[in-house]
Amino acid sequence: MAETIIVANWKMYKTIAQAIEFARGLKHALSAKTVLATIVIAPPFTSLGALKPELQASAIGLAGQNMNAAQQGAMTGEIAGGMLQDAGCKYCIIGHSERRLHFGEDDKQINAKVIAALGCGLRPIFCIGETLAERETAATFRVISRQLKEGLNKVAAGDIKKIIIAYEPVWAIGTGKTATPQQAQEVHLFIRKFLKETYGEKETAAVSIIYGGSVNAENIDSLMAQSEVNGVLVGSASLDLTAFLRILNFK
Ligand code: PEP
Repeated sequence: MAETIIVANWKMYKTIAQAIEFARGLKHALSAKTVLATIVIAPPFTSLGALKPELQASAIGLAGQNMNAAQQGAMTGEIAGGMLQDAGCKYCIIGHSERRLHFGEDDKQINAKVIAALGCGLRPIFCIGETLAERETAATFRVISRQLKEGLNKVAAGDIKKIIIAYEPVWAIGTGKTATPQQAQEVHLFIRKFLKETYGEKETAAVSIIYGGSVNAENIDSLMAQSEVNGVLVGSASLDLTAFLRILNFK
């Protein structure tokens, strides 16, 4: 059975003080509620050190937003998976479309990061998704297939359940346009079929496939009602505690 996972991607937002304030508010709100999902926050690197002790005794996990595939080295501005672990992370977002678009990351580099993350005990939150032009030319499934095949190259069957697949149609990220629940379900079913054919039924059953792209307090319930949507990756709406709490309390 796939775990339900909700990830907050704060991108390049929030100071250390704002991150701590949010974490305290979240912990306080959660102390009175049961949330049926694993919660993960991916803050900017600068807040990891402060959030590690804040979240240590809680069930809220920490993620890096990116990592380098090398263990260490002369790579100014980069961060290694082991360093993220040291800073309290259990997860790392890999292959986000903003990394692909603005930093030129390709499937091969993303695959190296996935392998490196697994190698140092981090769970990759592996992002895939088609652009608007690709959707409009009926290339969605071809693109998703390629990204899965190349991004997961050499991942052992025993490791696939450690990977969280985030389907994030590029046209829906930060645009206010959400995939309809049916569009999300259709692509998630395709991803699950690909994984079954590649890694087998049993290993694939435990893989969480989450959706990202303008998820908010209004659309969360209909997305989570889809049988193949095992959670969400939330950008903008995760910056606001009230909106994020509503998402965590999906119905
Ligand atoms: C994201 O950053 O992965 C994302 C889905 O952003 P937003 O929710 O703002 O579309």
